[in-house]
Amino acid sequence: METRVYIETWGCQMNLHQSEGIAGVLASAGYTIEENLDRADVVIFNGCMVRQKAEEKVFGRVGAVVEEKRKRPVLLGVGGCLGQIHGEALLKRVASIDFVFGSSGHKALPGLIERARKQRVTELSEPVFDTESTARRKSQVSGMVTITEGCSNFCTYCIVPYARGPMRSRPRDLILKEVERLCGDGYREVLLLGQNVNSYGTDRTDNGDFAGLLTAVSRTGISRVRFTTSHPKDMSETVLRVMVQEPNVCHHLHLACQSGSDSVLRAMNRRYDRDHYIAITKMGRDLMPDLNITTDLIVGFPGETDDDFERTMDLIERVRFGSVFAAKYSPRPMTRGADLPDNVPASVKEARLERVLSRQRTIALEENRHFIGCEIEVLTEGVAKNGELYGRADDHRTVMCQGDTDVGELVTIRVEGTSASSLSGGILVREKHGGMK
Ligand code: SAM
Ligand code: SF4
Repeated sequence: METRVYIETWGCQMNLHQSEGIAGVLASAGYTIEENLDRADVVIFNGCMVRQKAEEKVFGRVGAVVEEKRKRPVLLGVGGCLGQIHGEALLKRVASIDFVFGSSGHKALPGLIERARKQRVTELSEPVFDTESTARRKSQVSGMVTITEGCSNFCTYCIVPYARGPMRSRPRDLILKEVERLCGDGYREVLLLGQNVNSYGTDRTDNGDFAGLLTAVSRTGISRVRFTTSHPKDMSETVLRVMVQEPNVCHHLHLACQSGSDSVLRAMNRRYDRDHYIAITKMGRDLMPDLNITTDLIVGFPGETDDDFERTMDLIERVRFGSVFAAKYSPRPMTRGADLPDNVPASVKEARLERVLSRQRTIALEENRHFIGCEIEVLTEGVAKNGELYGRADDHRTVMCQGDTDVGELVTIRVEGTSASSLSGGILVREKHGGMK
């Protein structure tokens, strides 16, 4: 009998891609991937623990499954970083959870689901990362490709090294094979994924470094190559030069700064200072005047003073990011930060976050306005709820496109409108699979 599995994901692109891996493993084992929770026989929550709020959201969704369980038999599995950190304790804490799996345990899922039909069960398998990707991708245009798993940096606020283990680089030939397969399947873009892509290859001797990998990926025939996340301590001039030399490597750098204050960066164990951060962004823009730099930052880290925060605001002024993912600090279990007093009051964190977001909205709007009247290349990625086609510019800006075209095409548009989060304009030229860059 058909078993329908519904998968819900929280967190970063790595989690989204892990869910694509889960969907692939389950589809190969004969399960049907279901898009609606209320029609599923098995519900899987792939949960994030990076921030407390993300964790709470997962628990907030359990009620929806409890509702379904009242009507018919439904199994609930919780995994990802959340499963890895809490393990067995999740079964004790939430009576409606039937099985728990870890941050890289998706290969074991078919067996685990079968066991969970008989009794509640936890399996935290050893990380598997050397094998070929099992991903069943949501997008048919842009394919995420893992290049490293885990992280060995131990930033003091971050749970990732505990939830995902040490940094492991995937073998270069597997990555290249995967990209070539995506090209053959008609994908136009790949997004290389890792917590710190710049450290690719430093854990083994047979892979070369990230600059070498990026060059090789860009020469597979794929139209566009992106990568994320870049760590300022490991970002090198060599990588920036590859971005300049290889015409299909996109001019976008997600370079997480976290703070503009040296003392906060030290307390976070980030291992760079603001001058270094500013120097890399300057070098990047000198080499690529059209480079779009985006970032992550945290407000209210333990001990962050008003002056520290002003240094962050000053960094925002200097760098003029295209977009900023900002969050209030929340202590995470196991991290060194959790031992520090979480001494910035909630109201101060809130006010600082609002200042960052508000200033950033203005900067993004001002930056986007420079594009009015310009012709830019867009890769169309999907159709928005209002029926409009959207895509991304080379530099990662979201673009709403008016005109006749399909998803997965490179088109040229003239920018006519802007907001803080997107550009919009009419299509001038369509060039299917043309390599227009
Ligand atoms: N590896 C990436 C890097 O080093 O920039 C970041 C990965 S982390 C999963 C994503 C973002 O979550 C971080 O850049 C940070 O801004 C945020 N984050 C991580 N731990 C946090 C915490 N305890 N409180 C608030 N934000 C946090
Ligand atoms: Fe977390 Fe730091 Fe690793 Fe990023 S580099 S995943 S913030 S420990």
